[in-house]
Amino acid sequence: MARAGVQRATPLVGARPGATAVEFALIDRIRRRVAERDDVPLGIGDDAALLAVPPGHWLAVATDTLNDGVHFPADTHAADVGWKALAVNLSDLAAMAATPAWATLSLSLPHADGDWLEAFLDGFLALADAHGVALVGGDTTRGPLSVCVTVHGLVAAGGGLRRAGAQAGDDVWTSGTLGDAAAALAQWRAGGAADPGLRARLDRPAPRVALGRALQGLASAAIDVSDGLLADLGHVCAASGVGAEIELASLPASPALAEDFTGDARAGLQACGGDDYELCFTAAASRREAIEAIAQALSLPLTRIGRIVTGRGVRALRADASEWQPERAGYVHFSG
Ligand code: ADP
Ligand code: MG
Repeated sequence: MARAGVQRATPLVGARPGATAVEFALIDRIRRRVAERDDVPLGIGDDAALLAVPPGHWLAVATDTLNDGVHFPADTHAADVGWKALAVNLSDLAAMAATPAWATLSLSLPHADGDWLEAFLDGFLALADAHGVALVGGDTTRGPLSVCVTVHGLVAAGGGLRRAGAQAGDDVWTSGTLGDAAAALAQWRAGGAADPGLRARLDRPAPRVALGRALQGLASAAIDVSDGLLADLGHVCAASGVGAEIELASLPASPALAEDFTGDARAGLQACGGDDYELCFTAAASRREAIEAIAQALSLPLTRIGRIVTGRGVRALRADASEWQPERAGYVHFSG
């Protein structure tokens, strides 16, 4: 929540190499929108933040960068860039069953555009508030538009979810629906206006933080789907020393996706598209009821999409059990 006029230990004044008055003015805009918090003894304004880590916990730390035109379309609204920059990082914490706590923000901006920054912060801070994340520091430089966020979360010492741990016989699950963001990107690239519902999935992904925490002790392995289901499940398989079989027909699709895409095009978006930020996880069959109860409690669909098998790599199966191969050559890297 914005709280103007909060006194900080070190005012952002004075000339130092590498930082101009313009950059200080931008940093000050950020600082003014960040509230004080008990678990942040020292936030924005000193050489480093001081954070109060509760005893008995491990820190979970993740970093992801978004580059203009690479990780978001060039016409993306500043508020959506802010939201997404944090969301993709919170998604990594979700996949570890970590509770988000703090974030730092490294901004490279082509111009000292205060209006753009304020809109960016609208999106970033809205998601930060929703997940109890305090912005505690960062870096502001001039350059091509690029946003690098580092998030810090907490897990009970000895806890957390990992990519390793899947066992032959486990179910493979996914949250939500797959392929929406990739579908929006495909529509945008084709030059048309993307379906608004699909575009919202691309611009404002919802990190599955509550789900990740609920899965601790139930799931045997987990990952967030950022690079495409088959690729990311491939990472789980590689880390766990197992293989997986996915049934294409079982992949959950939103009504908008199902309406606009069919056949191989839909399969490609759902299995290989990326930018979904759903959680893909594995669990023993004995956990099905408990997982369905979580879906109810969170009002979030959880769908069984396949199984873990002995061997290596991920196979996607059609309804007749024949193996489906992605069309694009670039997609062959998914095997574990
Ligand atoms: P230093 O020279 O020590 O790196 P900076 O001038 O880069 O200091 O930053 C001053 C303070 O402002 C630091 O506390 C830093 O963490 C914070 N800060 C700089 N840029 C950002 C940003 N984009 N978001 C949040 N805090 C920032
Ligand atoms: Mg700095």
